[in-house]
Amino acid sequence: MKLNELNSLTKPLGNTDRMPVLFIGHGSPMNAIEENEFVTGWRNIGKTLPKPNAILCVSAHWETKGTYVTAMEKPQTIHDFGGFPKKLFEVEYPAPGSPELARESRDMIRKAEVGLDSKWGLDHGCWSVLKHLYPKADVPVVQMSLDYYQLPQYHYDLAKELASLRNKGVLIIGSGNMVHNLGMVNWEKIDEPGFGYDWAIEANEKMKKFILTDDHKSLIDYKLMGKAFNMAIPTPDHFLPLLYSLALKKENETIEVFNDKAVAGSLTMTSIKIG
Ligand code: ZN
Repeated sequence: MKLNELNSLTKPLGNTDRMPVLFIGHGSPMNAIEENEFVTGWRNIGKTLPKPNAILCVSAHWETKGTYVTAMEKPQTIHDFGGFPKKLFEVEYPAPGSPELARESRDMIRKAEVGLDSKWGLDHGCWSVLKHLYPKADVPVVQMSLDYYQLPQYHYDLAKELASLRNKGVLIIGSGNMVHNLGMVNWEKIDEPGFGYDWAIEANEKMKKFILTDDHKSLIDYKLMGKAFNMAIPTPDHFLPLLYSLALKKENETIEVFNDKAVAGSLTMTSIKIG
């Protein structure tokens, strides 16, 4: 047996070409079961990706004290929302977990003591998107939590430590929304994609400019970026997954922006593919 064959047997996740990284604006949980331009956008980007060995998803909807990764063999589908039709509660996304990827992620992070979680599963920030990207649920998925005690710079630095997973066929996805102010949602305009308040459009355009010029510092310092940013990011949960994705970008990698639209006035679905 040659040495490289031996390596591929002893490493749980083999070496691959560098996988792209995604940030997905997930919006309403109903996207899991609706047909619309956003889910079409997710499917189209899915077709451009090599099939991953596994997925690591940082969802806006899992906040914890400390950082955790799901480490169970069979993560449950969590219906972490209320007031939606019964058929949304019946959706299951039975992708396997990957205890190997969970352990490997824990071991490569120096910045924090990462805990292995056996209780969470997959929340809708993760499965409402993956259901369209990988409808067969045949790629193992691990979720990583957001430590809500930490500042943006911490999240950005922690994400950088995950970079080598990209070379092991792991697709890393940040799932949130760049502009996300639920308190200001205009429910009358919910079915009219493209409607955004001036401040939402302003913040989204500035964020895109920072993203496309690799000005990550301005995004990390979003609290200093003025009124539009303050309204776009009233709480950090849906914004922080973007910092995880951007931290993984190498110099000279391309960025593709897609689903670049506001919905209901105070949300944007803007998503990016890196690499
Ligand atoms: Zn959400």
